[in-house]
Amino acid sequence: MKFFLSLKILDTCVNCDVCEPVCPNQAISLGELIYEIAPSRCTECVGHYDTPQCVDVCPVECIIVDPEHAESQEILLEKYRALTADQTNKLEANDA
Ligand code: SF4
Ligand code: SF4
Repeated sequence: MKFFLSLKILDTCVNCDVCEPVCPNQAISLGELIYEIAPSRCTECVGHYDTPQCVDVCPVECIIVDPEHAESQEILLEKYRALTADQTNKLEANDA
């Protein structure tokens, strides 16, 4: 089975802010000192894009895979479905 990893941001992050808005899962936020990725929300962009968008835009290449968070593609896709269903429910609630 192929395993994917959630990603993490190293302390070489320069807080340039470009990764946060490109994440389709709102997994990136500013922590105490630098930006952080919530493993529970990072799907390596599976389901949305072919490549991790945060890695593509980071100018200092400080976003790496986190070996402590290995997940199968099935689990990542389940996470993707749960996160997108959550967003759809919120949009429907706002429309009501
Ligand atoms: S890999 Fe994708 S889902 Fe994970 S933090 Fe980066 S942009 Fe967000
Ligand atoms: S793009 Fe890279 S340097 Fe910029 S805030 Fe995100 S992790 Fe930090």
